Amino acid sequence: MRKGRTLKAVIPGGSSAPVLPASIMMECTMDYDSIAKAGSMLGSGAVIVMDDTRCMVDSLLRLSYFYMHESCGQCTPCREGTGWMHRVIERIANGQGRPEDIDLLNSVADNIQGRTICALGDAAAMPVRAMIKHFRDEFIHLIEHKTRKVAATA
Ligand code: SF4
Repeated sequence: MRKGRTLKAVIPGGSSAPVLPASIMMECTMDYDSIAKAGSMLGSGAVIVMDDTRCMVDSLLRLSYFYMHESCGQCTPCREGTGWMHRVIERIANGQGRPEDIDLLNSVADNIQGRTICALGDAAAMPVRAMIKHFRDEFIHLIEHKTRKVAATA
């Protein structure tokens, strides 16, 4: 980690792999079984490490933009769902989120996962579900207080 910062979360296998909070990640070894047991996957092996200054809503905003952009539009759940998720996350990130947006995101992700022609649909849905599962408090905080729940940068 950078000096003075603590580990917050790790995405262990590329952008589609479910994020793991530090408390879980530090109990794992970097092998397929351990990461799978913790609820994620090693996937492409592209490891993303985030410290305590990183806003998880902003992280998900970036990921959701990528999947919206990459959707080829061939099947409806992915074509419509990736854009819908991105717009809802953007609304939350801009301080205009509604309490029901969190459940709405989970619902849209549920309706994408397992219902698309290729794996991009699942790849778009999994980060959303995992971010909300592990960092729901940050989404709620931003909706309720219009400010980010992160450590101050030095
Ligand atoms: S799931 Fe695959 S095939 Fe379907 S719209 Fe998305 S990118 Fe295209």
